[in-house]
Amino acid sequence: MSKVLIIGAGGVGGVVAHKCAAETAVFSEVMLASRTGSKCEKIAAEIRALGGRAIRTAQVNADNVAELVALIKSYGPRVVINVALPYQDLPIMDACLEAGVDYLDTANYEPPDVAKFEYKWQWAYQDRFKAKGLMALLGSGFDPGVTNVYCAYAQKHLLDEVHTVDIVDCNGGSHGKAFATNFNPEINLREITAAGRYWEGDWKETDPLSVSMMFDYPGVGKRKSFLLYHEELESLAKNLRGLRRISFWMTFGESYLKHLEVLQNVGMTRIDAVEFQGQQIVPIQFLKALLPDPASLAAGYTGKTSIGCLCEGIKDGKRKRYLIYNVCDHAETYREVRAQAVSYTTGVPAVTGAVMIATGKWKGHGVFNMEEMDPDPFLEDVGKRGLPWHVEER
Ligand code: NDP
Repeated sequence: MSKVLIIGAGGVGGVVAHKCAAETAVFSEVMLASRTGSKCEKIAAEIRALGGRAIRTAQVNADNVAELVALIKSYGPRVVINVALPYQDLPIMDACLEAGVDYLDTANYEPPDVAKFEYKWQWAYQDRFKAKGLMALLGSGFDPGVTNVYCAYAQKHLLDEVHTVDIVDCNGGSHGKAFATNFNPEINLREITAAGRYWEGDWKETDPLSVSMMFDYPGVGKRKSFLLYHEELESLAKNLRGLRRISFWMTFGESYLKHLEVLQNVGMTRIDAVEFQGQQIVPIQFLKALLPDPASLAAGYTGKTSIGCLCEGIKDGKRKRYLIYNVCDHAETYREVRAQAVSYTTGVPAVTGAVMIATGKWKGHGVFNMEEMDPDPFLEDVGKRGLPWHVEER
């Protein structure tokens, strides 16, 4: 039995707290800590109201390593689940190293002043985690996360060589708002407005949202999907044997794209500070304050997400193509943990990753991406925990 510390009480943090609290056989105690203490208390009350157990809460500024170390040392968790923002990855990793605790996150580090996410900053911790005999598991959400594990499964069981991978991500749901993002607006808009990139022996760049295709998503149907750069491409291009091309596709509705274009044209997605009435403000941070909180979209959200990996390659000398995927229903996740499916599909794999670490099913010293671990125990667990997966030959 282990204690778990969750950092970040947003849409994803709520799901992680609910699911950790339900895991009474693995986690002896659950603590949820975040910058705004009242958000932790609200989630704790919700867990109790749904018949769950009492969890502990704390207020912490995760940019402050000393504050984090003090909290971790006084509570004594087996593993820290970081579901705050990517900006906090490095201070939380530093604190885990100092306090001697395993680490897990769902999104790779990006510096606040440049819209650029890369693994180089976190991979640079490899020797320090190894030397301390600790594990850092990077990107244990859905994408990155489950998508990396689907690729590892294709490599282990379905194909002798994986030649091409298309990660396809569709939110076919509707929240009824004119414009909103399904996870942290600042992080989401920085990702979508960046140049597209895919790997084909080397990296190729495309203009933002300039390449699209139609894809038939199980449980949703045909949807226009746009080529984006997504962080799991970087580690999968490095770790999959014999890979020739890998790309990532995401669906967006017409209304979303129209709003995004206007917001970009008027400068509201800028990440540099501008002076306004004697104060420095960052337009994208101001926009975040105006947009709905992603967690608040959950009540009344209808429809499904459908996310998977289309993997093509060779098995016993024959060309084969498989789609490995999950379909998740917004209304069902709301009934279970009061969250929409985008938060749920991120939070459930984070809990599964932490269970893999706490039970010793996944172990290692150093910094790991998900596809480097055995996919089988993870997929068995994540399926039971609420994200069943399917394989379809195409
Ligand atoms: P939210 O914005 O809803 O929540 C973020 C939480 O982190 C908030 O509670 C916020 O506190 C807290 N936080 C921010 N800064 C600090 C700080 N300095 N110290 C302590 N707490 C802090 O985001 P989401 O829940 O939607 O997303 C959480 C993470 O999940 C993000 O990193 C996102 O990129 C990732 N993600 C990963 C996906 C995947 O599939 N891999 C998919 C979707 C999201 P406050 O309330 O005070 O602002």
